[in-house]
Amino acid sequence: MEVSIDKAPIGAMKILSCYHEVQQILSGKMPVPRTMEFFLSNVCNHACAGCHSRYMHKSEDQFLNFDTMKDVVSDFAELGVEGVEISGGGEPLMYPQIIQAIAYMRGKGLKVGMFSNGTLLTDELAEFLVQNLLFLRIAFDAGTPETYRKIHGRNDFEKLIGNLKTVIGYKTRNGARGKAGKGGPRRSSDQKFGTATVGAKYLVSSKNWQELAQAAELAREIGLDYLQFKALRASKFTIGGETLDKAREVARRAQELSNEDFQVFGSLEKTKPIGRCFLNPIHPVVDAKGDMYLCAFFHHRKDSHKIGNIYEKSFPEIWYSEKHYEAFRSTNPKECAIFDCPFHEAATLARAWIVENRKHLEFI
Ligand code: SF4
Repeated sequence: MEVSIDKAPIGAMKILSCYHEVQQILSGKMPVPRTMEFFLSNVCNHACAGCHSRYMHKSEDQFLNFDTMKDVVSDFAELGVEGVEISGGGEPLMYPQIIQAIAYMRGKGLKVGMFSNGTLLTDELAEFLVQNLLFLRIAFDAGTPETYRKIHGRNDFEKLIGNLKTVIGYKTRNGARGKAGKGGPRRSSDQKFGTATVGAKYLVSSKNWQELAQAAELAREIGLDYLQFKALRASKFTIGGETLDKAREVARRAQELSNEDFQVFGSLEKTKPIGRCFLNPIHPVVDAKGDMYLCAFFHHRKDSHKIGNIYEKSFPEIWYSEKHYEAFRSTNPKECAIFDCPFHEAATLARAWIVENRKHLEFI
């Protein structure tokens, strides 16, 4: 019998691996987060249409202090956090000590992933990131230089394509599969370093929906592992009505480009929470000002979601504080519904399989 395995590294099903964390949450305890997200930089070299972090780019606190970052990472590692996701906020590659920061995280035994616009990649960075990240996800957002410029505010599309080819070149040299490396050794489940998964993220809006399939074709040609698409929300560029219908059709064509080595996946449909969130302790965020928030997906940054500042208190002090429990108890599903939080779908699964125990997970 052939077992079909979903090859995409992203998806709601992953929440089932957090069975024990969810059990802890249900019994009123605060679990150790599986993933910590870091916004190391508040500054960005691009100015994207519809960017929800744009207001942060004006902040005077441009970068998280390196020594403070090291203290927090040490605490993560000691408590048992498994993955650190570096995103923004601003562009992570603008963080002056980005190589040292990732090396420090890796030295502490953490797995590291990064979101970037990819335009600041140098040869040295490309080689280092391929060797040290578990994944690198790049904002792609267009199939042509013109559309890219309209969205990102910079004429950097050709540069991005060149940078991605360099990254894939290092992957291929390291023996990972890819266009040029087909037939090379497959990655084992644990020793993935040296062969970071490199994917594209496409935020679909009124400015770029027509080019989704074209971008997917380009991403496949370059040798990326996947292209994930998602609809831009809460913006004047959000699509709806007839445009959304047409975009669904383009998305379907893009998905048909998936093959053994390259997956196109995502959704343009609005997700909704199924009540008050009970998953946020699995994936909180620390930003470049040192502020720590309940979760990384609540882009409107309500004060009620802020649980402390790591310049003032240590990570464990904030994490196990009454303020955190209070914030956890008072999330408002209406506010969570503004954006398509990945935990909306995950919560539906976790509720049925873990909370209601429909699959009798104590038995295999
Ligand atoms: S945005 Fe809301 S639903 Fe999503 S993780 Fe945060 S608190 Fe939970």
